[in-house]
Amino acid sequence: MKLSWKRYDLQLKHTFRIARNARETVPVMILSLTHDGITAYGEASPNIRYGENIATLNAFFEKVDLTKFDSPFAVDEILRYVAEIEVGNNSAKCAVDLALHDWIGKKLNVPLWKMWGLSPANAPFSSFTIAIDTKEIVRQKVLEAEDFPILKIKVGLENDREMIETIREITGKPLYVDANEGWKTREKALESVRWLKDKNVVFIEQPMPAAQFEDTKWLRDRSEIPLIADESVHYLADVPKLADAFDGINIKLMKSAGLREAVRMIHAGRANNLKIMLGCMIETAVGISAAAQLSPLLDYCDLDGNVLISNDPFDGCRNIKGRLELTKKSGLGAEPFE
Ligand code: MG
Repeated sequence: MKLSWKRYDLQLKHTFRIARNARETVPVMILSLTHDGITAYGEASPNIRYGENIATLNAFFEKVDLTKFDSPFAVDEILRYVAEIEVGNNSAKCAVDLALHDWIGKKLNVPLWKMWGLSPANAPFSSFTIAIDTKEIVRQKVLEAEDFPILKIKVGLENDREMIETIREITGKPLYVDANEGWKTREKALESVRWLKDKNVVFIEQPMPAAQFEDTKWLRDRSEIPLIADESVHYLADVPKLADAFDGINIKLMKSAGLREAVRMIHAGRANNLKIMLGCMIETAVGISAAAQLSPLLDYCDLDGNVLISNDPFDGCRNIKGRLELTKKSGLGAEPFE
């Protein structure tokens, strides 16, 4: 098994501002795995929230030596080895997991959703994300998102109400609201939640910092809008305790270190009566196509990371008006344009 990796700088169509930061471009790494005449792909979109960047990815991939394994079919064994190389760097580990799954699907000539026995018709629509911006730009973004039936709105700075009011001047579509840990006190969070009531908000994602678990419990007891964990949930082991403070979990492959752990988390979430959402970082069609393979298992889907960029180097799962198209293409179903 041979690995190689290449950096791509993804260009955002609009500045992507959330409660934590703002970005114009996002560097990602595409991992290629070649074995037995088949080339498979994985992706790492590093997140500074979790101490990752292009340098940490490079250093991690340098350490991965798959020569001791016979074939990518040994997924469990390989991923256990990869997990133990070092703590963290989950997006790098995710790239390995995706490439292994892509290779297996290609070898068996079957898309992953089919291999797992899933029905594309069960997949919910994906939301389209509107990041924090001025009134004028928000208005423009909402009009550009006309075809998408659900909007996900980033809040958590000073202009929350202006954002929501601007959107509501244009559309009554259901909204997913994501504060990205931006409400720092429980009183502020409760005031925001109460204000959002009766505004057709389906849920609120990560209202408060992950460290403020007790405050989030307090908020949930008073909130009429369901709360979804994002920054509070990474792995399988996080899931059971979250049921005390949240109504659902937003799983991301870049946090869970790939598809294998994400599947376990989906089932653990169900067992704990949590709603299941799958989200993404800013990613190419490689990461999005991988996540889309699991979309029939979800309650909520937020897989628009490659719709927000203008230079996706991969052709993969297409997002048609919020509907993620699961095709017969084998593996993840994403191939480079070049
Ligand atoms: Mg989020």
